[in-house]
Amino acid sequence: MQFNTHMQMALEQARAAAKRGEVPVGAVLIGPDGAVLAADGNRTRELNDPTAHAEVQVIRTACALLGQERLKGCDLYVTLEPCPMCAAAISNARIARLYFGAGDPKSGGVIQGPKVFNHTQCHHVPEVYDGIDAQASEALLKDFFKGKR
Ligand SMILES: [Zn+2]
Repeated sequence: MQFNTHMQMALEQARAAAKRGEVPVGAVLIGPDGAVLAADGNRTRELNDPTAHAEVQVIRTACALLGQERLKGCDLYVTLEPCPMCAAAISNARIARLYFGAGDPKSGGVIQGPKVFNHTQCHHVPEVYDGIDAQASEALLKDFFKGKR
């Protein structure tokens, strides 16, 4: 199925992020026509930028590529539940569908914690599909943090 392919690509980005010493989270942005607009992972350490989460990275790249501030009709695949900052960015970008892997009890902002999309002040709510390849995403994160201790 198509979304499995895209989550595999997001997982590859997460693995690449781990190799760079970043928290292993990867994201892929797909255009309305099914083309891959951007694929990236966390780069907060590399860029010395606390906002350089995988989701923000691909949103920035795709918007620059298309020369527009919104990504109507686009799909975002991310290996981990987006944090509140990224959930707000996803809403502002008007992304149509969000597919994510593992839930994130510590920092997630979609199905737990602040639940950004449930607020009346959230002006655009994407369709949300969770638990896609969640085990692979969780295993990556566990390995990463195990290696840190
Ligand atoms: Zn984030």
